[in-house]
Amino acid sequence: MQLSDFKIIVTGAASGMGAHFATRLAEAGAQVAAGDVNETGLAELVEAGQKLPGAIHARALDVSDDGQIASFVDWAHGAMGGLNGLINNAGVLRDGLLVKKDRKTGEIKTMSREAWERVISVNLTGATFMVRDVVAKMVATDAGPGAIVNISSIARHGNRGQSNYVSAKAALAANTLTWAREFAPFGIRVGAVAPGMIETPMTQGMNQKARDALVSAIPVGRIGEAEDIWLAVKFILECGYFNARTIDVDGGLSM
Ligand code: NAD
Repeated sequence: MQLSDFKIIVTGAASGMGAHFATRLAEAGAQVAAGDVNETGLAELVEAGQKLPGAIHARALDVSDDGQIASFVDWAHGAMGGLNGLINNAGVLRDGLLVKKDRKTGEIKTMSREAWERVISVNLTGATFMVRDVVAKMVATDAGPGAIVNISSIARHGNRGQSNYVSAKAALAANTLTWAREFAPFGIRVGAVAPGMIETPMTQGMNQKARDALVSAIPVGRIGEAEDIWLAVKFILECGYFNARTIDVDGGLSM
């Protein structure tokens, strides 16, 4: 498919990679429905995208709320005059060791249920129900060929201090194959991109020492940029023979 054929939802589109994907899609002539909890960021995205060949429509969306997902998908279908794609990108971090012993006091600290459930609720349940409702709408409206891109993470292979995030991103990569098989009869392909360490507000909030240590371990010698990940997303959207797989785009980094 050509990018200009897409009427596509981008979640987490108010900042970082999501904003970059939405802008690149509209530059290529696509219709984009941008959703995020950050309404200020959405307004800036729409403003910046006004003169692009495609269009960026935006509305508040919390993917951890089933009701909001359902009404967003209905709205997006109407706003774009159809729906044939999803970039499942919204995500949060609540990092911490599952069990930690304080070096000075000897106190034992553990990951809270809140930290576990928040990440699972946004990064896994939210992403899964986005796929469910987008595909249900595409099938109900005979949308024809379409594509879904899940944004996983290199953490899917396992990473210290991220039990919650690893669980969500690994499941998303595994279900990329599940959903590719389930939706093939409808002409819908499903792929995923697993970014390494990318320069966005998410990584800008990291502890500087941890960030420097990670960047120095990247074989290509630099942190990734949103454009590096866009190239993989674009490939999945355009290549009709790509299906069911997850592409690691990480500069060769192993966590
Ligand atoms: P980001 O924080 O800039 O973007 C994430 C966006 O998701 C934000 O705009 C945020 O408001 C939105 N969001 C958070 N909770 C939401 C919710 N409940 N409903 C709707 N939107 C919500 O970070 P980013 O780095 O651009 O992250 C984009 C995706 O890439 C995430 O899924 C993240 O896990 C993944 N990722 C990032 C990196 C990295 O190094 N930056 C690496 C691997 C994977």
